[in-house]
Amino acid sequence: MTPGEFRKWSVRAAEWGVDYRSGLRERPVRAQTAPGEIAAQIPDAPPEAAEAMETIFADFEKIILPGMTHWQHPRFFAYFPANAAPASVVAEHLVNAMATQCMLWQTSPAATELETRVLDWLRQAVGLPDGYSGVIQDSASSATLAAILTMRERALDWSGNTKGLAAHRQVRIYGSGDAHTSVDRAIWIAGIGEENFVRIPVRGRRRAMDLAVLEEAIRADRAAGLLPAGIVACVGATAVGSTDDVAGICGIAERHNLYVHVDAAWAGSAMLCPEFRDLWAGAERANSVVLNPHKWLGAQFDCSAHFLREPENLVRTLAIRPSYLDTHGRYGILNYSEWSVPLGRRFRALKLWFLIRAYGLEGLRAMIRNHVGWSQRLAEHLRAEPGFEIVSEPILSLFSFRYLCDGENPDETNRRLLAAINDDGRIYVTQTLLDGKFVIRFQVGQFECDEADIGTAFDVITELARAL
Ligand SMILES: *Cc1c(COP(=O)(O)O)cnc(C)c1O
Repeated sequence: MTPGEFRKWSVRAAEWGVDYRSGLRERPVRAQTAPGEIAAQIPDAPPEAAEAMETIFADFEKIILPGMTHWQHPRFFAYFPANAAPASVVAEHLVNAMATQCMLWQTSPAATELETRVLDWLRQAVGLPDGYSGVIQDSASSATLAAILTMRERALDWSGNTKGLAAHRQVRIYGSGDAHTSVDRAIWIAGIGEENFVRIPVRGRRRAMDLAVLEEAIRADRAAGLLPAGIVACVGATAVGSTDDVAGICGIAERHNLYVHVDAAWAGSAMLCPEFRDLWAGAERANSVVLNPHKWLGAQFDCSAHFLREPENLVRTLAIRPSYLDTHGRYGILNYSEWSVPLGRRFRALKLWFLIRAYGLEGLRAMIRNHVGWSQRLAEHLRAEPGFEIVSEPILSLFSFRYLCDGENPDETNRRLLAAINDDGRIYVTQTLLDGKFVIRFQVGQFECDEADIGTAFDVITELARAL
């Protein structure tokens, strides 16, 4: 590709992106294709001869685009938001062009120094105290894995990596019955074993871990010769936003010398607004906290902020050169690859920098406040409609509901309603099982969503329910 062609196609791709974003409301949110339909249009074998960019680009539009679900669609209310605000997309264009490996300070000093700075901006923005250090992980799953490994090593007196786990008492980790599956996987990968992830039952409106049961489980394990290592608290779990009492958990952890990791992957962005911070009260006492700017905030995937009170514990767990400990944090040199499982790192801080500057904290707070307000009003409107029931009350901008049809099994009714909504295409929502009941989740979080989109959601849901 000549520089002239590179220019032409880069400009074309950037312009395509702008048109794509402005036309999203006209598209169905969820891909409306059948399994295999896209693969059938792609040759079995790769081309021997070079093909024209014109052809490749045309195929992208013809074959690929119809098979995409539009996560940036303003009426995407499924799963969780995966916002890529325009300013963050622009930053990613620059990162793509430079394509640097930012694993060590010297492999791109600006990437490391900007990362330290913007994570400290974000720390202040969400109200975590001075003294917390931040690092960008590729995902919350990676941050949680790093935290579980740190809990394990701390409990094993830093010898699990060298001696393996067989040489030690059995490590035990505690978490909510509603904890995200990334916690289970971290426990598998850390060699602790699913059976040693003690799931504490949840109770109350916020579906928080029962703290009496938690403390009793820790005591009983210790009495049985097992080794309690840490607790994973969740703030806004994915299914229905279950939120633990972080302060209570930290109190227990302090009494039993355990490590606390807070998973606020989705809800953490809302902590920009002081009025929502009661949801994670106590987070300032935890050992580590993860929140995903690549979800609600608008920094395009991937960008997961991992805050640590004692980063040296993480570095001691993951750095491959123990001598690094001697210089850790000194001379202003940080090698962030020693804070994470992968060695290679993308330049992720740039999009966060662009995002925070282009919208300002006030702009981002206004977006989050709107989403929470609109979601809670929609829940009230649905509650007032005959046949509708709010099953889990809103936690920030997430709630779940069901529609009840006379004489039909509610799970069946709601499966049919969900399929009807997503086939219709104007909005996209997903389901979860809550205490065995099939419920439809609704979360508002799209960067470009406006109040009229919520009105459309109400119309689609009620209209399709009546037509079932
Ligand atoms: C989304 C989510 C995760 C996983 O995040 P990734 O960045 O995709 O790994 C973990 N926990 C919670 C509560 C989440 O909402």
